[in-house]
Amino acid sequence: MAVLLQRPRAAVACLLLYYLTGGLAVPDPRQREALIQLEASMQTGGQMVLTDAEQRLDALLFKMKQEEMARADFPPAMHFFKAKDLIRTGPIFNLLQKMPKGGALHVHDLSMVDVEWLVKNVTYRPHCYMCFTDNQSIRFIFSSRWPKALPRCSPWTLLENLRAKMSNTTDLDNTITGNMTLFTDQDPEMVYPSQDVVWDRFEQAFLAVWGLVTYAPVFRDYYYQGLTEFYTDNIMYLELRALLPEIYELDGSTHDTAWTLKTYQDVTRQFTADHPDFFGARIIFTNSRGVNASVMARVVEEAMKLRRDFPDIMAGFDLVGREDRGRPLWYFREALSLPVERGVTLPFFFHAGETDLEGTDVDQNLLDALLLNTSRIGHGFALLRHPVAKELSRKRGVALEVCPISNQVLKLVTDMRNHPAAALMSENHPVVISSDDPAMFGASGLSYDFYEAFVGFGGIRSRLGSLKELAMNSIRYSSLTSKQQEKALALWQRRWDKFVYENAF
Ligand SMILES: [Zn+2]
Repeated sequence: MAVLLQRPRAAVACLLLYYLTGGLAVPDPRQREALIQLEASMQTGGQMVLTDAEQRLDALLFKMKQEEMARADFPPAMHFFKAKDLIRTGPIFNLLQKMPKGGALHVHDLSMVDVEWLVKNVTYRPHCYMCFTDNQSIRFIFSSRWPKALPRCSPWTLLENLRAKMSNTTDLDNTITGNMTLFTDQDPEMVYPSQDVVWDRFEQAFLAVWGLVTYAPVFRDYYYQGLTEFYTDNIMYLELRALLPEIYELDGSTHDTAWTLKTYQDVTRQFTADHPDFFGARIIFTNSRGVNASVMARVVEEAMKLRRDFPDIMAGFDLVGREDRGRPLWYFREALSLPVERGVTLPFFFHAGETDLEGTDVDQNLLDALLLNTSRIGHGFALLRHPVAKELSRKRGVALEVCPISNQVLKLVTDMRNHPAAALMSENHPVVISSDDPAMFGASGLSYDFYEAFVGFGGIRSRLGSLKELAMNSIRYSSLTSKQQEKALALWQRRWDKFVYENAF
């Protein structure tokens, strides 16, 4: 009964079904229609009341979706690498790109910018050295002197010299590109036959990008370029998971974590001044889950200090790295309890349930994240297998940051129609859509992930109201204060109304 009281609509549905089926030989079509309507109203956006202009756009969108669903090569059923061009050239994607999507709440620092920008812009800058590792990856460094050799890497080559000797640099540039993204034109199932293989290449790609992005002048430009790419995709706000690495200068000197966070703050302010309809960005400080308990305790101390010193930009804390291989949250329980013990606010945004290792310690991360009072859950892919965690997440409004393409590329799901978030969205579980590491997956901004969620999860029944609710969720479940959220929502609403008007008529 308690469950029925908490879920009034579900209770109504049960009662309705009971009366409807009692003693009837042939079900009444009107009552059938009532049940269909009831279910439709329970989905994400199902209660949204649309204006006349929105209804017009909804009708157009519905037609587009019917056509998309009738295709033999239905993109959400395919691997994103194969589907990307089909998605990109279709009318739904075109509309989604123009749509104000609100905030991107789950994006990582080293994968927010198109790899082509790194290759064509950054690796063509002076003093850029490259070496080849013995496991077929590459590393970079900028240096005013010839850099010291890295273990397990070839001698350094100055790219400027190497390119000067070549008549055509296309092959070299393609090799560099291929090492910094998982995206490939070959058959992704062949190139990445298992989770181990794809995660290994994923980690190598981050290491390849590392030496480029952690060079101070590039670091600033990279972040500004990242904000530009999200802004261009009609995102108005960003919560970036950032490792806050040591940043280096050409002479080899380095800057500490506070400098890195302050630089994020300065560049964000600059970007917002240049683009007044961009609302801003906040940082979720992240650390590898591969460290031991005492290192984690020191990092949490540092996170508390950063939160105190930079309250505007610093949103909270999270652990990153492959959940299946790293240490579970429970292992870090003492370090992660430090803020509460000290009476210090440090909101958590834990990755949890990005796994199919059902029943293991790693699989308990979802419950542990909630026990540790997480503000949102990164991925939550395993949530359907945890009814208690699911109920807690719903009751407390702890939204899931669903990243469809990431889950597919990293081999948790094949056909997007079978993604757990499809079921969660059918009952309006609190979710936001995000892109995790768009550059690694050959995506950008949020539009590709919105496409997969809208067409793949929602099917024909999810309509403009769902998109509107997803966009509003991204502000409602952000780390912004309620006052800031109100302001952001008002800004978003203005852009939304303009978008609807321009595309409905
Ligand atoms: Zn992530």
